[in-house]
Amino acid sequence: MEGVRYTGIPSAAELAACPGIPSEERMRKGRVAVIECVQEIPCNPCEGICRFGAITVGAHITNLPVLDEEKCTGCGQCVANCPGLAIVIVNKAYSETEATVEFPFEYLPLPEKGSEVDAVNRAGETVCRGTVLAVTKLPAYAGTAVVRLAVPLELADEVRSMKRLPRTGLKKGPEPWVRERPEKEV
Ligand code: SF4
Ligand code: SF4
Repeated sequence: MEGVRYTGIPSAAELAACPGIPSEERMRKGRVAVIECVQEIPCNPCEGICRFGAITVGAHITNLPVLDEEKCTGCGQCVANCPGLAIVIVNKAYSETEATVEFPFEYLPLPEKGSEVDAVNRAGETVCRGTVLAVTKLPAYAGTAVVRLAVPLELADEVRSMKRLPRTGLKKGPEPWVRERPEKEV
């Protein structure tokens, strides 16, 4: 049995039928939301957060969100706002050889900008190395950071997150993600 109901991972058929996935042409123009929401669940915060009107759930809250790829600016507001962690931002115009993928990340420690990490697919399997370009954390979504990775262009449809980093050097602080400083560091 495959599909999100049985494995927690959307199947190729479910993704192909999903109204939240932009076209290849749009992804090659620049940043755009890829909404891999394939279960008809009662949920719609993505529709409310998008100030460009690019996401429509509509009158029936169990409708799948529909992306208007031309209205989407790739601003990324919907990524951390989605309780299902179903939205990423893909940019296949990043360079001749690389794309960027931005995804919600709720594990500590957070990666450092410029570091290399293991990029993983929807099943959590490592598919390549990725370079961390940015880590953002909006005050409204304190528990959910958004990580932007540069990955090989041909893997942009596969990479959906990164492997968790070892929990070393963390301590309780005013914010739980504060990293303990080594003694010598001033
Ligand atoms: S990335 Fe921005 S413009 Fe695009 S759907 Fe999300 S909130 Fe709307
Ligand atoms: S907020 Fe996320 S889980 Fe909810 S409908 Fe939108 S994409 Fe699906």
